[in-house]
Amino acid sequence: MKHYSIRTTIAIQYAFVVLIVVFLISIVSNFLISRQFENYVEEQQNEKAEDMALNLSHQYDAMSGGWNLDYVHGLGMYALNEGYILKLSDEKQDILWDAQNHDMTLCSQMMGSISSQMQENYLGFEGKFVTHRYDLKQGNQVVGYLDVSYYSPYYLNENEFHFIEALNQILIVVGICSLLMAVVIGLFLAGSLSKPIAKIVEITERISDGDYSIRFQEGVKTKELDDLSRAVNYMAESLENQETIRKRLTSDVAHELRTPLANVSSYLEAIIEGVWEPTPERLQNCYDELERISKLVSDLERLKQMENENLKLHKTRENLLELVQAVMKNFEIQMESKNLRSVVTGEDVFACIDRNRMQQVITNLISNAVKYSNENGTIRVKIEKNADMASIQVQDEGIGIPEKDLPLIFERFYRTDKSRNRRTGGAGIGLTIAKAIVQAHGGKIIAESKQGIGSTFTVIFPVE
Ligand code: ADP
Repeated sequence: MKHYSIRTTIAIQYAFVVLIVVFLISIVSNFLISRQFENYVEEQQNEKAEDMALNLSHQYDAMSGGWNLDYVHGLGMYALNEGYILKLSDEKQDILWDAQNHDMTLCSQMMGSISSQMQENYLGFEGKFVTHRYDLKQGNQVVGYLDVSYYSPYYLNENEFHFIEALNQILIVVGICSLLMAVVIGLFLAGSLSKPIAKIVEITERISDGDYSIRFQEGVKTKELDDLSRAVNYMAESLENQETIRKRLTSDVAHELRTPLANVSSYLEAIIEGVWEPTPERLQNCYDELERISKLVSDLERLKQMENENLKLHKTRENLLELVQAVMKNFEIQMESKNLRSVVTGEDVFACIDRNRMQQVITNLISNAVKYSNENGTIRVKIEKNADMASIQVQDEGIGIPEKDLPLIFERFYRTDKSRNRRTGGAGIGLTIAKAIVQAHGGKIIAESKQGIGSTFTVIFPVE
């Protein structure tokens, strides 16, 4: 199928609409103007005949009872040229002057030319010569009769035909000009639509070629195009983030594995070569490194499982306050070692949740709060219920998260400070898992943080 550009399509549509409008206006105005003009001509014909009758009535001399036949002849010949055939009779109906008697050939020539001209210009025109009789009076006395024959309902002389012709030509010229203007305006207007679309197409093509840093910069006035360009920009941004995370993931996993593997192999090599004694302490070191590797692998597996199984929840009615207190207990030793204080506030809030999964969420949040807290800090957990929503808030006074990292911390394997985190042992998937679980509960998780002051993670979900 042939595809036309927006420019061409809009210009053609514009031209088509204008063509129809101009065509209708031309037909209607031509019809109305012609009709008006024909009425005018018809009235003019009648008036002229009446004028001639009046004029001729003055040519009777009441004193002598005679007619000025020279004048009658002059007027008769003039009228014949104009398309009127006159016949003058006296009061006794005796013919005094008759154009047909006077010049039969001229009369039939004139009648023939008028009817053929009208038939030629108005196909199927139904006209014929009709005779009107006028009484010629002086005072109240009838002094004669004038029979005027002319082409009825009307006929147009050469000038009048020219007028109608000129009118039609003007309408055609106006039509063509409007059409051209419509095409030009259509092209111009279409340009304002097609240009940004072409630009967006170019950008999406570059995105599909892997250039995720490109963005649509220009402002667009059309709402839908503006939405489209925003959506494309958003898509590019998400792809760019995903790309960063993907690259980071590969390098992180490699990095994460390389250090413990190198350690283990160098320990074992030294033991095999007899450089080192295989003391329990050294073997414990090897074991610890292998533990780190297997933790990473199990994290990866957990994540894979989370993504594969579409998170089926087994919900039961649980007391959130009690659940939080239970989780808190598991962190007593870690908190003690950093001299951290915990404050749990809120009342009993019951909600339908998957206990194990939600416990995992709370564990991940509290574990992070403990990991990233400085010594002697306080960790506050608040449980609340608002309408039919429950919220669990975990707040710490730890190192905080840089603003630029905040939107990314829920992405898998995202860690704000790689070297520090390797020490603390996190692989950067705790929050990814937490977010997936909360979303499966129909809720959301919000992170707020100020570097050097602390972080607050709030989990909100429906109680039912
Ligand atoms: P990790 O196992 O590395 O803690 P998470 O997914 O739980 O992975 O967290 C991702 C990153 O978010 C962490 O590496 C850390 O940089 C940051 N983060 C999470 N929670 C906190 C917190 N309470 N305070 C400071 N940084 C945090």
